[in-house]
Amino acid sequence: MPTMNSTLQRTIRASRLSKDLISHHRLQSPRLFSTTRWRNIRTTEMSESQLAAVKIDRDRLWKDLHGTCEWGKGERWGDGATDIGMARLTLSDADKQARDWFVETTESLGCKVKIDAMGNIFAIRPGKQTSAAPTYAGSHLDTQPTGGRYDGILGVHAGIEALKTMKDNDIETEFPTGVINWTNEEGARFPISMVSSGVWAGAIPLEKSYNLFEVGGGKATQKSELKRIGYLGDLEASYKANPIGAHFELHIEQGPILENSGGKIGAVEGVQAFRWHIITVKGRDCHTGTTDFENRSDAMLTAAKLILHSHNKAQELGCLASTGILTLKPGSTNTVPGFVRFSLDIRSKDDAKLQALEDALKSDFAKIAEGEQIGGVNERGVKGRGCTVEWQLDTDSPATKFHEDCVKCVEESAKDMLGTNSGNQVQRMTSGAGHDSVYTSRHAPTSMIFVPCRDGVSHNPAEYCSPEDCGNGAQTLLGAILRYDRLRAERAS
Ligand SMILES: [Zn+2]
Repeated sequence: MPTMNSTLQRTIRASRLSKDLISHHRLQSPRLFSTTRWRNIRTTEMSESQLAAVKIDRDRLWKDLHGTCEWGKGERWGDGATDIGMARLTLSDADKQARDWFVETTESLGCKVKIDAMGNIFAIRPGKQTSAAPTYAGSHLDTQPTGGRYDGILGVHAGIEALKTMKDNDIETEFPTGVINWTNEEGARFPISMVSSGVWAGAIPLEKSYNLFEVGGGKATQKSELKRIGYLGDLEASYKANPIGAHFELHIEQGPILENSGGKIGAVEGVQAFRWHIITVKGRDCHTGTTDFENRSDAMLTAAKLILHSHNKAQELGCLASTGILTLKPGSTNTVPGFVRFSLDIRSKDDAKLQALEDALKSDFAKIAEGEQIGGVNERGVKGRGCTVEWQLDTDSPATKFHEDCVKCVEESAKDMLGTNSGNQVQRMTSGAGHDSVYTSRHAPTSMIFVPCRDGVSHNPAEYCSPEDCGNGAQTLLGAILRYDRLRAERAS
């Protein structure tokens, strides 16, 4: 495009917005629409309908997203131009390319870019109150080795698209706004997930994070790779040195709930609690041919009953229970195993419910192992001599509750975009997986926005989120940021 006088350009933009706003609803604040003199539009002066009329550019978002997915391409899974997964491991050369793009793009939008000691990148668009902590959109550009194009990447791109839209429409926020690219959310290359937001939140020591070696026996550490690609920043990675005003994260749901229920947007209220236990069942090895059922202490049979009971009890209490690891000894066809160890992952959106499940299982497991009639699992079969059960807590992650102000901003923005909430298109949800937002929520008002992904599939090259759903998510994100800015200003005055 030939260069235009910049005042003229802004006037054109402002009048283009005016037309959108007029067509969307009746004018509520006529001073915004002066064509004789251009002025910035402030969020505090925008009515609901004016807020709703600020539209992101859905095509630009889609093109930008697939543009950066050229760096770190993974497995092809279909015939389409974008039917290619991602393998952009954190701090790799491809990750550096994506980061460089992030910095260049946000700087070209007038952002100030800061990089902290974990390589987290903070791009900040100034607001009226220059010294206040920014309202951010944050997510991650790194992927799993067999990842897709939307997990994390969509959240970062939607944040940048929001900044572009604010610039296009000459919107002036009361507080600074910005986008964060969190380092190594996936934990795939250096094995702690959400590690850099964790360091920022003071939950993970910096040195521990720096000294993580890459999986697969390589010599690189997280610190050496940060240095190598030029993203070892000198800003302290800390919520104290670098505070966040609020954090909104758009993410694909990574589960089937929205898709199966016709939902378009999830307003995420929090992340469920989980505890990982290691359960050890001890019985006695014996010969499978010479020992009758009455005289066995069959650790494997007991473990099977315990796992079944954990499923039934979790269902009864509205929780989840899963076993993903199971080992047994001695591991011989003709020996009844006397030793079994298995993992028990229990989850609930409510800490008290999780505790109730755990208490019930602790009591029931001991009784079931003794052969008592609990929950129907010992109803049939032969009692035998019984086994013992030991519990060991491995990981304890309490429920995260996001900030109601932020959740409401997401909900209102989504309802505005869709024009209606028929068919439960906007739903309040709890995240089943962890995200950087878990750590930001410890020190800043936070919420997340979920959009459906096909078949609920993620961490898979064929992960897919439609252009419509990507656009819906980004539009909701922008609306939530603007609403929150207005709310912050109201609260501060
Ligand atoms: Zn993610």
